[in-house]
Amino acid sequence: MSNKYIERVIEDCKKNNPGEVEFHQTVEEVLRSLEPVIEKHPEYEENAILERLVEPERGITFKVTWVDDNGKIHVNKGYRYQFNSAIGPYKGGLRFAPNVYPGIIKFLGFEQIFKNSLTGLPIGGGKGGADFDPTGKSDAEVMRFCQAFITELYRHIGPSTDVPAGDLGVGGREIGYMFGQYKKIVNRYEGVLTGKGLSWGGLNGRTEATGYGIVYYANEMLEACGEKLAGKTVAVSGFGNVSWGTVCKLNELGAKVITISGPDGYILDEDGVSGDKVDYMLELRASGKNICSPYAEKYPNAKFVAGKKPWEVKADLYIPCATQNEIRIEDAQQIVANGCKFLCEGSNMSSTNEAIAYLQENGVVVGPSKAANAGGVACSCIEMGQNAGKTVFTPEQVHAQLKDIMVNIHKECKEAAEEYGFGYNLVAGANIAGFLKVADAMLAQGI
Ligand code: GLU
Repeated sequence: MSNKYIERVIEDCKKNNPGEVEFHQTVEEVLRSLEPVIEKHPEYEENAILERLVEPERGITFKVTWVDDNGKIHVNKGYRYQFNSAIGPYKGGLRFAPNVYPGIIKFLGFEQIFKNSLTGLPIGGGKGGADFDPTGKSDAEVMRFCQAFITELYRHIGPSTDVPAGDLGVGGREIGYMFGQYKKIVNRYEGVLTGKGLSWGGLNGRTEATGYGIVYYANEMLEACGEKLAGKTVAVSGFGNVSWGTVCKLNELGAKVITISGPDGYILDEDGVSGDKVDYMLELRASGKNICSPYAEKYPNAKFVAGKKPWEVKADLYIPCATQNEIRIEDAQQIVANGCKFLCEGSNMSSTNEAIAYLQENGVVVGPSKAANAGGVACSCIEMGQNAGKTVFTPEQVHAQLKDIMVNIHKECKEAAEEYGFGYNLVAGANIAGFLKVADAMLAQGI
């Protein structure tokens, strides 16, 4: 059964945003799971809530001109999609990667609406970025790019308007350069960006928040199914901040991380990626080199598998933390064949819609990224509150709040899915719970 209203909105969205396949993918995934909600509440259709949700409130495209170390001039495209401000100022990261185009930023911005709503905190959804490739760029080049980027974007953002943060290719260094330039332009010291350094307004624990949150969420998934995280083997992909935080928290809670991956391939370490090995991974990352082959040279018990993803390895739990669509149908088939029962998405939209459907049909519990990785943006919102209140929170205060938020997100996803007849389907539950808050705020605020 398909709902005519939902299908019409999906079709129109595809027509209005031609070629933006990642955006189409998330719109289809979210809207189709809302079917019982739309049928139960005709007011959403009467008030065109879905049409209004899939259209960003504002999309800003701008030119970023910068000069490299050899004096050559480069032109990149910058974007900010301010998607939905029904429950708070736009909030979401900036992604710097060569494949960035409106379809990627819109998919991320659309997901961010529901993710931010799930945190229970007052933040709307937005996302931005540029088709800038930070790989191999010097510090000075990154600084000039960030300064040029924010010199255009500054007029559209502000602590009560739109608060960007990091995403792929944007970490503490980039946030620092952007913050410095923003401050110079507006002559105000304010929490316009999150993910700042600790001595200049940043939040204790923000760097590891996304990864820690993912593990708290995965832990809830396992416990809801009568299992325990301690003693489980976990295959993790990626080597950025998200996978680092994930690996650290998994180790702390007694699970064994057996894989990590980078652009060169993956590492299988049956002894576990823990202790010094995690520090070594960070060292390699900071040097900008490949992670996996040097890791295997240093720790000969670990096996380096070139050019592959770690999903062929048998594990109790899979946590993809690299990028979108890293779990395709063939990976899902492999994961099911491996006998795995749990997959928790760390990267935004880790799986294709086809892969999610296959995993769920074959009894794998899937934790969707918009719920599982919401700990990062939740802590960003705590950082906004810290800045507005001119105060500093301790790591203990932040971690306790993060854990509560993640436990609550899992509970809301579970309850929403049950209420609308999906059973224990966290993918549908996350969409429904995230949607309801935003849709009701939109209704209350009129057209
Ligand atoms: N980029 C992160 C995300 O996907 C963090 C966003 C933020 O902190 O604003 O949620």
